[in-house]
Amino acid sequence: MDLYEHPTFAMAARQFDLVADHLGIPEQDRDRLKYPKRALAVSIPVRMDDGATRVFFGYRVQHHLSLGPTKGGIRYHPDVTLGEVAALSMWMSWKCALTGLPYGGAKGGVAVDPRKLSPGELERLTRRFTQEIISFIGPQVDIPAPDVGTNEQTMAWMMDTYSVHAGVSVPGVVTGKPVHLGGSLGRREATGRGVAYLVGRAMDTLGIAAQEATAVVQGFGNVGSVTAYSLAQQGVRILAVSDVGGGIYNPEGLDTRALEKWVTSHGTPIGFPGSQPISNDDLLRLKCDVLVPAALERQITGENAGLLQCRILAEAANGPTTPAADEILDRRGDIFVIPDVLCNAGGVVVSYFEWVQDLQSFFWSEQEVVDKLFRILEGAFVQVLQQSRRGQISMRLAALSVGVKRVWDAKKSRGLFP
Ligand code: NAD
Repeated sequence: MDLYEHPTFAMAARQFDLVADHLGIPEQDRDRLKYPKRALAVSIPVRMDDGATRVFFGYRVQHHLSLGPTKGGIRYHPDVTLGEVAALSMWMSWKCALTGLPYGGAKGGVAVDPRKLSPGELERLTRRFTQEIISFIGPQVDIPAPDVGTNEQTMAWMMDTYSVHAGVSVPGVVTGKPVHLGGSLGRREATGRGVAYLVGRAMDTLGIAAQEATAVVQGFGNVGSVTAYSLAQQGVRILAVSDVGGGIYNPEGLDTRALEKWVTSHGTPIGFPGSQPISNDDLLRLKCDVLVPAALERQITGENAGLLQCRILAEAANGPTTPAADEILDRRGDIFVIPDVLCNAGGVVVSYFEWVQDLQSFFWSEQEVVDKLFRILEGAFVQVLQQSRRGQISMRLAALSVGVKRVWDAKKSRGLFP
């Protein structure tokens, strides 16, 4: 099947094959579990501010329909392709199943650099993209959310376009909306907060005291920034952070309160007073207790995995570690990996809470959201750690096995359709 050909899809497929071997999934069941159930590719004509028309290309992929509607983010990035979106949808499936959510995985995206569009152009692009995929989404069908390059405003435009089409407000069609439109308290912070919670559990497991620990964060968007601020609240010293333009480093630790103000006014950590510049490559190799890749896929590779100097690798991004890097990390055995499907699951868990609140029109306090989030993450963490120890397998293989097995069981019980 070459429709999804892409290095990130090859990576997700390779991970699946290893899990399938581990679980002893018969050959005849494998393709049904691995490949997306359905995918839609659309072209999106947009009237630009200068009067010209430009066509963008967008995708929505639904990985499986066996456990309920599908769920997953929308990415705006120049490198978005059908294969990348398909890989991300597969990971969403295993993540939702691992955390016990009643969803299959999905993902969507548009090949565009959102920083190069005006707010008006972004709105027209988002509304037209939503229109093109409108029959493919819905609160009982497929529920988008924010991902790289999209945010609460993007979700508000999607929700409004869908609602105008339906003739009534349909808040449950997307999650990650502004709170005043039916969004959930704690959704924007959920992924980073969850990462920090799980890092705390990993530190407990290894006997590392937060007050003496250091961390490095690659990517300073929604997930990376909230992770850094939440870790700092636990007492962890943040040595370096970065965005697409490069990184900043202070061996004594960055003042995260001042950094937050700087980023709010400058839009980037770069240039933060009292820090020195560092490249994204060098940042990954800094000596620290916790390394948090929170940007894009395939950052930890066969080339740099041997050079990491962290004790915990907390995969806030989706797919940051290639299978070649995994082999090296497995051989090294000195790095505790919190795999992506577990580490960043806080986002989809609170998206699920938002959807439930929207369907019931009954809204929860932020404390309720956070308590329920941590309870689900705790259960998943303990289950994965136990499987990993009992089976003498990596944390990734353990986490993926729990997710894949649940989907496989659902498919076996339901039959061939979903
Ligand atoms: P975002 O767009 O808010 O931030 C992305 C950040 O990464 C930005 O700071 C950007 O400058 C930086 N970046 C981009 N390319 C980079 C590069 N080559 N090197 C270093 N930094 C780079 O996106 P986000 O929502 O924070 O998502 C980050 C990661 O977390 C993605 O892998 C996403 O799939 C994953 N994730 C997000 C959520 C969520 O709720 N938003 C949930 C689960 C997983």
